[in-house]
Amino acid sequence: MKHELIYGGTDMKGKIAVMNKPGSLEYQEYEVPSPGPGSVVVKVLCSNVCGSELHIWSGHHPKKSGGLGHETVGLVHQLGEGVTTDNAGQAIKVGDRIAAAYFITCQRCPSCQAGKLNLCENVFSFWAKQPEEAPHFHTTFSTHYYIHPGQFFYKVPDNVPDKLAAGANCALSQVYYAIEQAGVTIQDTLVIQAPVAWASMPPPSPRARASP
Ligand SMILES: [Zn+2]
Ligand SMILES: [Zn+2]
Repeated sequence: MKHELIYGGTDMKGKIAVMNKPGSLEYQEYEVPSPGPGSVVVKVLCSNVCGSELHIWSGHHPKKSGGLGHETVGLVHQLGEGVTTDNAGQAIKVGDRIAAAYFITCQRCPSCQAGKLNLCENVFSFWAKQPEEAPHFHTTFSTHYYIHPGQFFYKVPDNVPDKLAAGANCALSQVYYAIEQAGVTIQDTLVIQAPVAWASMPPPSPRARASP
């Protein structure tokens, strides 16, 4: 898959789709920030609509306003100081196509210190911020997205379409995590129940996240 769009520079503006209240959307424009040390700014190629966005949009979610979107794939727009590889150790450069976890694993809180990265207490430090607050691009229904230190990201293989890669950080990884936790193997008999509310689902394990 070829993507010819390669961006650089710090002076361009980007747009964010912002829900000012459930069921009401507006576009806000902000200067695209330069990434700080350990951070990455991507140019969004594709963002999926997750079931949680439908709950947010209809007002049935604790989040009542702000940017939307968290399942995305994009091209590296700028790399912050010290970022030379993705979280699988592959070399990374401007223009590479990547997918990132939408949550933080801070490595400092008691859960992270105990090795339970999926229970990080700062998991939504940025996703929950309003777009007025720098670096603005906290969500992915937008032209750009800011990936912070502690947000794992991975280079996407060329043969994986954007629409599939965009959901790897949520839809795919949560199912993968559940299968891993349950110890389900091929030929096992399963009972399929209705989907669980997003807020009650844990983020995927680091191992699950390493396989977007
Ligand atoms: Zn999702
Ligand atoms: Zn933590």
